[in-house]
Order: sequence, then C-alpha cells, then structure tokens
Amino acid sequence: MYKSIVIGTGPAGLTAAIYLARANLNPLVIEGPEPGGQLTTTTEVENFPGFPEGIMGPELMANMRKQAERFGAEFRTGWINSVDTSKRPFTLTLEGGETLQAETLIISTGASAKYLGIPGERDNVGRGVSTCATCDGFFFRGKKIIVVGGGDSAMEEANFLTRFASEVVLVHRREELRASKIMQDRARENPKITWALNRTPLEVIATGMGVTGLKVLNNETGKEEVIETQGLFVAIGHTPNTKFLNGQIDTDEIGYIKVKPGSSETNVPGIFACGDVQDNKYRQAITAAGSGCMAALDAEKFLEGSAVHDWSGAVS
Ligand code: NAP
Repeated sequence: MYKSIVIGTGPAGLTAAIYLARANLNPLVIEGPEPGGQLTTTTEVENFPGFPEGIMGPELMANMRKQAERFGAEFRTGWINSVDTSKRPFTLTLEGGETLQAETLIISTGASAKYLGIPGERDNVGRGVSTCATCDGFFFRGKKIIVVGGGDSAMEEANFLTRFASEVVLVHRREELRASKIMQDRARENPKITWALNRTPLEVIATGMGVTGLKVLNNETGKEEVIETQGLFVAIGHTPNTKFLNGQIDTDEIGYIKVKPGSSETNVPGIFACGDVQDNKYRQAITAAGSGCMAALDAEKFLEGSAVHDWSGAVS
C-alpha cells in the first residue's frame, strides 16, 4: 500500500515525485511505454529555465528522474490495464495481473502528438520532423518548412514558425480548413505562409542529412507531387492518454482530464492530475512541471486530511 502512486514520468510526474519524496511520502512512480515523456523525442531544450546553454530533452528528463530517486521515489515499469477509483485505497491492475494500492493517485500520463503514420516520418523525428513548433522552430531559422494540418494548432504553429522560417507551406488534406475563422484569417494574412490544400501527405523524403521533401497526393489531379522542404511540422492534434481510466474520471469531450480551476483536483477526491493530460492549452515542460508540483502539494494536503473538496464540475 502506497501513500501516493504517480502514473507517468514526464516533467509533471517527475516533479510531483520529487515533491512527494521530499515530503517523506515514498511515492511509487509508474513508468509507461514512453519513459520521460514527449521531451525524450525532442533534441535540444532551450526554454527550460536554469539551462542558459540549453539541455538535451533526454538528459533533462534523466536528471529529473535522478533527483526524484535521490529523495527516495521508487520506480517501476509497467502498463496499467485498469484502475478502480470507486473506493479508497485506489487499486491499479498492471498487465500481468499484479495489483497495487494507494491512498492518492497522481495522473500525469501526458498527451501524445498524433502522427501521420506515413513512411519516413517516425525515422526523422528530431532530424527535420517535429510535432512542436515552440520546441523546435528555432532550429529552422531561414529555412523552408511545411506544416501539416487544418485545425487551430496548424494555424498557430504555421504563424509561429514564420518568425524563423523563410517560407511556411501549409499542407492540408482538404480544401476547407477546420480552424476557427480568426486563426485562419491570421494565417491567410501572413505573407510568409503559402498554401497547398487538397494534398494528402504520402511520404517524408529524407537523406542522411535530414528532410528534403514531402511527397503528397494532389486530390484534384490525382497526381503525386513532391514539395521541397527542410522541416516538417505535424500539427494534426494530440491524444490525451486517459483511455486506461475507462471513463471513471471526468474528462472533456477530447479526453483531457478536468481539474478544479487553480488546482490539480479531479472529480474523485484523492485523485489529482497534472501536465498535458489535463492541459490542452500550454503544453510546455515548464507548465507541466509546475502543475506536477501543485499535484504533489494537493496530495500531501489531502493525506493530512485538510483538503477541502468543493469540486463543482467547473471546467478550467
Ligand atoms: P483538430 O482541430 O482536431 O484538427 C486536426 C487537423 O489535422 C484537421 O484539420 C484534420 O483534418 C487534420 N488531420 C487529422 N488527422 C490527419 C491525418 N492522418 N492526415 C492529415 N491530416 C490530418 O486538432 P488541433 O488543431 O490540435 O485542435 C485541437 C483543439 O484545440 C481544438 O478544439 C482547437 O480549437 C484547440 N486549439 C485552440 C488553439 C487556440 O485557440 N489558440 C490553438 C490550438 C488548438 P480534417 O480537417 O480533414 O479532419
């Protein structure tokens, strides 16, 4: 029986673990299929405060893990099959059937960027293919970039990337954009953005030196084309990793966990959420880490019996 189990090892989960461990709560941290979270799929992180020269994403995450271990956090790798939140202590069932119990749970399972699933894409992540303009845009100064997607994320990423790129080509599989009018207008008014609509991405073309193009199907002509580019930003949405909760915790319609505004409390007392699994807006390592700290402090307070649960179901 644990006082607290943290599920997920991105910046949110590891920060929660550091705080819980320093409060002598001996947390168990469950590491899933992507140890260290999304930052392990990026290269250099230049916007995490405290590293004036930048730090590699995997190194930053390894450091956070070491810091949590130093104060006594216990780690184990496992895939959680199911969670029973109906009574405390909460029960987690791991693949293989083993069960674990905890008085509080901190859910920090993050959100996974969606990929196109085309040849050449995954092989070139960190070598020209990215799912995060804020993280990687800086590396494409003066270069031509493609952004794929037709939603608000794609418009936002395309606009942001024009700060660095010489040209941003927006590739979308249909003629109509899904993005809100205001975001579309902003992108359309940006002279650095050009449009390749009605194009379905087929293959990322790369040499050993990096990405050189995107092969697309022109849905009007039925012909294949290659759009030259030095970078490809895939902005087709994120999926919050909440399936394993099987609907027991309140989420929004996409699946992001709802937390009480200004806290990490979910609708189930004793269960807290932090990081991208509850954040569809900021999605930064530093905001995830900050919310991990909040979750640990909320769990600590809950364990002391002083938590006030005035959850009203409001959406943050
Ligand atoms: P989204 O609205 O679901 O849009 C995803 C886009 O990617 C769609 O245009 C979709 O094409 C395309 N797409 C999906 N799968 C694809 C595939 N396999 N191949 C090619 N294209 C594919 O996702 P989002 O843009 O990330 O936005 C998610 C939510 O966050 C929305 O509610 C959005 O309003 C919100 N958001 C708001 C802001 C803001 O207000 N500042 C910024 C970002 C996001 P189809 O249109 O053809 O389906």
